[in-house]
Amino acid sequence: EAPLHNHFIRQIVIDDRAAGKHAGQVATRFPPEPNGYLHIGHAKSICLNFGIAGEFGGRCNLRFDDTNPTKEDVEFVESIKEDVRWLGFSWNELRHASDYFEVFYQCAEKLIRDGKAFVCDLTAEQVREYRGTLTEPGRNSPFRDRSVEENLDLFRRMRAGEFPDGARTLRVKIDMSSGNINLRDPAIYRIRHVEHQNTGNAWCIYPMYDYAHCISDAVEGITHSLCTLEFEDHRPLYDWCLREIDLPGHPELVQSLVDRGLPTPVRTPQQIEFSRLNLDFTVMSKRKLMALVQEGLVDGWNDPRMPTLSGVRRRGFPAAALRALCERVGVTKQNSVIEFSVLEGCVREELDANAARRLAVIDPLKLVITNLQADHEETLTFPNHPKNEAFGNRSVPFSPELWIEREDFMEVPPKGFHRLVPGGEVRLRGVGIVKCEKLEKDASGAVIEVHCTLDPETRPGHSGADRKVKGTIHWVSARHAIAAEIRLYDRLFNVADPDDDSDGKTYRDHLNPDSKRVVQGWIEPAAARADAETAFQFERLGYFVADRYDHRSDKPVFNRAVTLRDSWAK
Ligand code: ATP
Ligand code: MG
Ligand code: MG
Repeated sequence: EAPLHNHFIRQIVIDDRAAGKHAGQVATRFPPEPNGYLHIGHAKSICLNFGIAGEFGGRCNLRFDDTNPTKEDVEFVESIKEDVRWLGFSWNELRHASDYFEVFYQCAEKLIRDGKAFVCDLTAEQVREYRGTLTEPGRNSPFRDRSVEENLDLFRRMRAGEFPDGARTLRVKIDMSSGNINLRDPAIYRIRHVEHQNTGNAWCIYPMYDYAHCISDAVEGITHSLCTLEFEDHRPLYDWCLREIDLPGHPELVQSLVDRGLPTPVRTPQQIEFSRLNLDFTVMSKRKLMALVQEGLVDGWNDPRMPTLSGVRRRGFPAAALRALCERVGVTKQNSVIEFSVLEGCVREELDANAARRLAVIDPLKLVITNLQADHEETLTFPNHPKNEAFGNRSVPFSPELWIEREDFMEVPPKGFHRLVPGGEVRLRGVGIVKCEKLEKDASGAVIEVHCTLDPETRPGHSGADRKVKGTIHWVSARHAIAAEIRLYDRLFNVADPDDDSDGKTYRDHLNPDSKRVVQGWIEPAAARADAETAFQFERLGYFVADRYDHRSDKPVFNRAVTLRDSWAK
């Protein structure tokens, strides 16, 4: 059953199935908080959770972890659904943690009745004082020994809205001297008189993450609750809550779930932690991404320079490249920073295999072939992919006036320059060999046209077609080319670790001023005709994608996804 690149989480699942745990079932969930857009790091969690469920015939829920009341997250909810689908996954069920608010509440009353939870009147500051430190044990809250009756009464009045924000919390009784600070009687409810986007004004007390998460997992029958390493120290609390609440042992609670229309395969899930995906040359905390958007440092969450999934999608990174990255990075407990060039390598690999080739010129210089009639016109046939005949062929119009790349001509070439020079020869891709005979210059002396003759014997199918010259350059027919807006994107930051603020600088100080350049180029008609989001290799230039939002065949817009080679290599 084990696939080629095994990892420890897959092995746990394999072993659990072999042992008949959870009746051999596998259920996972991806639990984003809808407080921002998903980023490349989330892709790792998505690929892992959906991947494991898919491999073992299990199910994976998309669960919005919306226990924090916030208002404006409809946009985030929609983008998260779209991004998960784009990555190639479909969820078994869509759930909201807020669907379970009543369950969380009933479980809290049970903890109170069992003498495991108490209402605490300490202020936030006092709670901190009582908590102790890493080296010093904490002290019991003076409210810890309240009677069950008083606790139930106060907790119900908290729910009823009798107390202001921060006046009281509900805490569980674990151990104020525990070496793990998470176990020092953590709060599981706080008072917040805030409207919730899903439950409106129904609640003014909200559960804390650790408490809500484990119960949500149990309610959904999650078998393997996969999360990132920072939750390792929270696992004892996760396990404590589930053990003390014992959902599977309380059929009446479970029945109340069924009554609410929840199919409830209640289970005791296992939390397993893995390391986060970190990338250099970018930031991936939602707070910082939000700041970039709000401060106008980028053009929105889906700016092609953003590490958000909607950003890299718009940039032209295929979903398959992100899945390949996650596969390559693997799943371990070791924290590491992956080089951005590894991701770019995955993008190149994917697009090299799957993107058709097209001709485009992004910094145009006119080349005129003087030994053809001015009105000469031909249709040439080009293969769409040099390594894959299945891509077929296309027609490329050719005429004596062409656009070539300005950097492919030099009047005074440096040593080793193998492209076009005065009196020199170069091959025009798919056409034949031209010789530079004459230059046209403007008043300032800048070259505006290169006049050449085409050697007819070197045209495809002719006797000299194989004649060797050093360089081959690309071109488009000036008469037929379509003007296109070309957005040349590069990395957003110019240092490997923009998060490093030890020198007093912040990520804002490390923005790459050249991360976006917009130029007007010329593209062959077959490129302009493409649908939005079609990716091409513009020969010799890089991989480009028709912009998802702005591209139109009569007004093409292309974004550069990656250059052909890694220009950041050390
Ligand atoms: P941030 O710190 O950027 O706000 P988060 O972890 O709070 O991220 P959530 O919306 O809670 O964001 O994340 C949903 C899931 O994705 C969680 O299970 C989380 O562990 C996982 N996740 C988030 N970032 C990464 C990452 N860089 N690598 C792997 N998994 C991640
Ligand atoms: Mg989170
Ligand atoms: Mg967060």
